[in-house]
Amino acid sequence: MQTILFSSTDPSTPENAAQIIRRGGLVAIPTETVYGLGADACNVDAVRKIFLAKGRPQDNPLIIHIAEPRELTRYCHDIPDFAWRLAEAFWPGPLTMVLPVNDCIPRETTANHDTVAVRCPASEVTRALIRASGVPIAAPSANLSGKPSTTSAQHVLNDYGTDGKIDAIIDGGECSVGVESTIVDLTETPPRLLRPGGITPEQLREVLGDLTIDKAVVSQISSDAVVRAPGMKYKHYAPSAEVVIIEGSREAASRYIHRHFVPGEAVLCFEEELPYYEGLFATAYGCEEDPRTLSAGIFAALRRLDTPEITKIYARCPTGGGVNYAVQNRLKKAAGFHTLNAEEAE
Ligand code: AMP
Ligand code: MG
Repeated sequence: MQTILFSSTDPSTPENAAQIIRRGGLVAIPTETVYGLGADACNVDAVRKIFLAKGRPQDNPLIIHIAEPRELTRYCHDIPDFAWRLAEAFWPGPLTMVLPVNDCIPRETTANHDTVAVRCPASEVTRALIRASGVPIAAPSANLSGKPSTTSAQHVLNDYGTDGKIDAIIDGGECSVGVESTIVDLTETPPRLLRPGGITPEQLREVLGDLTIDKAVVSQISSDAVVRAPGMKYKHYAPSAEVVIIEGSREAASRYIHRHFVPGEAVLCFEEELPYYEGLFATAYGCEEDPRTLSAGIFAALRRLDTPEITKIYARCPTGGGVNYAVQNRLKKAAGFHTLNAEEAE
């Protein structure tokens, strides 16, 4: 069986893809964050196929996607007021809320949690697909487990090929946000940030007042730990090469990298820094001046550098809040939190 490639601009795509979802198949879906690997969230066999196709650990729950914010009441209970305030401010959009789950969502989807993660994505074709399917769509990022996320249909094809490992892909072009959704746990007060993303901590605090940052966001969690966001403890987003983040000024970082660089290694930096690395194998993922280009470009760049020939990647990481907070989190996870300060190393 061949994988079907649908176009997001073909008006028959939502109904054609919905037929696959309704009979328990897998459809890779475009969203503003990253491509997801979607299946009927209420169909146990379909959900199992997601875990199998990705090689995803069974204890890592899935996010379910809904077409309209009001559908939250079908799948969750004890929804606090601030969930509706967040939905009003950020849905449809790159925010996922964790809430107490209703019985209609199977344990396979929530990995036995008594909560479920829910998001209403902005992508029109994906919302049309959810409506046409008549079910919520469970979709983790479409990448093979542990690999950098997929931000184009080509990335999904690179991971799964065309021979039917997944049933279909909807090509919606490149993802605009480029990093996975912000996840906030609303089952405690104050709410807890489990994963930073396109909706920034500053934006959340504007609506919520107070926000706790989970330790998995800022440090490496051991793989046997019991954590709030199970996905955060695994090595993530990583190319096969070792990644080390080089902190410090442009000049100090460049001096350090030039001193240590050997053939087979690569530099991952900002556009503005490319002139510093002439003669070395360097690639830029966006402009430091424009943080949205960094989030949009980070996974495509990590994928470009994910080749067996590359043994080590020296990465430059943005500082500060806003969407840079999410980019830092992804890069630090790709690096297993291995950072080196070039100014101290001199
Ligand atoms: P992915 O979409 O592949 O990036 O993975 C979904 C993320 O959502 C993972 O980090 C999960 O751990 C997290 N997640 C899903 N459901 C829950 C939940 N009920 N409680 C906490 N985190 C969740
Ligand atoms: Mg993922």
